[in-house]
Amino acid sequence: MSYPGPPYYPPEYDAPTVYFEKLERRRARYPHRCYACSQPIQPGQTYSRIFAIVDGEPQVQKWHGVTIGECMTAEEREDW
Ligand SMILES: [Zn+2]
Repeated sequence: MSYPGPPYYPPEYDAPTVYFEKLERRRARYPHRCYACSQPIQPGQTYSRIFAIVDGEPQVQKWHGVTIGECMTAEEREDW
């Protein structure tokens, strides 16, 4: 399983530089907060842990489920 890599932005779009370094699927042992929907990830739930470099800063993001965005509605994904 490989991550598709940094998203494409048009040149005029002032987006942060994001490099996804690592994607892991884990089972939560402690509660976490989801990066996408801000809801808690409960112990025992499977979540995706992403290690990314955002504008040169290392950042760890945790998401519900095994597919990024599966806890968001279609509308939320639109403006994500
Ligand atoms: Zn979520």
